[in-house]
Amino acid sequence: MPNLILMGPPGAGKGTQCQKLIDRYKIPQVSTGDILRSAVRDKTVLGLEAKAYMDKGALVPDELVVKIVVERLKDKDCSSGFILDGFPRTIKQAEALENTLKQMDKKIGLCLSIDVPNKEVIKRLSGRRVCRQCGQGYHVEFSPASNANKCDKCGGELYQRDDDKEETIKARLKVYDEQTSPVKEFYKAKGLLKSIDGVGRMENITENIINAIEGK
Ligand code: AMP
Repeated sequence: MPNLILMGPPGAGKGTQCQKLIDRYKIPQVSTGDILRSAVRDKTVLGLEAKAYMDKGALVPDELVVKIVVERLKDKDCSSGFILDGFPRTIKQAEALENTLKQMDKKIGLCLSIDVPNKEVIKRLSGRRVCRQCGQGYHVEFSPASNANKCDKCGGELYQRDDDKEETIKARLKVYDEQTSPVKEFYKAKGLLKSIDGVGRMENITENIINAIEGK
């Protein structure tokens, strides 16, 4: 199983697709966004430092994020493969990852980029709602809760993530275009990039991703 990178703008469906890959290949997902959000929730030193950047839609400084990933990749469950979700997001991070993996005698086998146009991203993210209590996700248009403000599963209050507000989404897309798109070129130059059309039925996108991984 190759070590994978899953790239794509916010709202490309990386999280959903990642879950499918975890189920199929039984390898862990390493999501810097999830790790950072959990640090913010727990009010750790890392979380307190990261929050201001995240709320603005800006990138958390490379040193902090690289440290998180380096530590996480040492965990035993990453020994027979992993999926990096939301990392690397800058060329500096990609280079740091390469050095770390070299020291561990590992390498990236494939970088998958799920491509979705900006207009579609804005529609998807600005409608996203999350349950404050259990974390269940909804979408006001595509998968609404029966009661607009309440979770169907636990009755918790639904809210919009600060970084899903339209202005912040636009800032995140700008960051993606300016700082993260060059990372695609980094892996393309190494012959490791495969692009997947991220618009369409979820099942078809999953199938295309699996075909890319299995070389079909
Ligand atoms: P995500 O859920 O992957 O969209 O991440 C949410 C936020 O966490 C981003 O908007 C950034 O502020 C921060 N973040 C996540 N991953 C990284 C990364 N690799 N480098 C810098 N900031 C990150």
